[in-house]
Amino acid sequence: MRRPLVAGNWKMSLGPEGGAALIAELLPLVADSTGAVDVVVCPPYLALGAVAAALDGGGVSLGAQNCHWEEAGAFTGEIAPGMLLAVACQWVILGHSERRQLFGESDEGVNRRAVGAFAAGLRPIVCIGETLEERDAGRVEDVILGQLDRSLQGFTAEQLASVAVAYEPVWAIGTGRTATPEQAQQVHGLIRGRLRDSFGDASAEVIRILYGGSVKPDNAAELFGQADIDGGLIGGASLKAADFAAIANAARSTCGCHSEQEI
Ligand code: PEP
Repeated sequence: MRRPLVAGNWKMSLGPEGGAALIAELLPLVADSTGAVDVVVCPPYLALGAVAAALDGGGVSLGAQNCHWEEAGAFTGEIAPGMLLAVACQWVILGHSERRQLFGESDEGVNRRAVGAFAAGLRPIVCIGETLEERDAGRVEDVILGQLDRSLQGFTAEQLASVAVAYEPVWAIGTGRTATPEQAQQVHGLIRGRLRDSFGDASAEVIRILYGGSVKPDNAAELFGQADIDGGLIGGASLKAADFAAIANAARSTCGCHSEQEI
């Protein structure tokens, strides 16, 4: 029984004012879903405080888009897990393909960030995904499972329940080209199978595996209806309140098997 999770990755869009305005628009639109779906927004760091204030117990949680593994030190440009907790973040996206491709983050670095974030009390959303070249070369399984193993190294079966994995095929991010529900389910099934082998049945059954890559209101229901897709990581569509709300509402209506209880 997995409760759906829908997280919005705002990337480098919206500052404090714009972020608070989006939340004011969003909250009434998702009010019917937050009892059954974990809805999370992940603004840029600078907007976290204003967005936290705007959320004000409205049933939507706050996340960040990255964090360092240390709590303090000479790490110019980085943010510590404790700083995110201090502005009411509960979640943090780690290993997004843009971090990997544009900023050189490796699986080992993502793992250090995930371990540090988790130890501090944040819930990591660990992103993995293959490029088009890797898919065309028939390397999806190899790439995805390698990223998964290395990124989650050191986690215990019990800890895994608080983590989410996001499968985001790089070729589907921001391109308007979504994986078909069958393509996505096939990879989600592989991921859950590997988690079962590594961490056991009980942990593999509770961890949420999100799909990300051009999820929109008109394709969300079919994707979320797949057996191993437990929600989504949403980029572009999370910047429009009506679209993000429609996606969260699709998660509620298609994941009827999920429990009301927070994992
Ligand atoms: C993302 O950035 O994680 C993402 C999935 O973006 P988009 O929904 O715009 O493809």
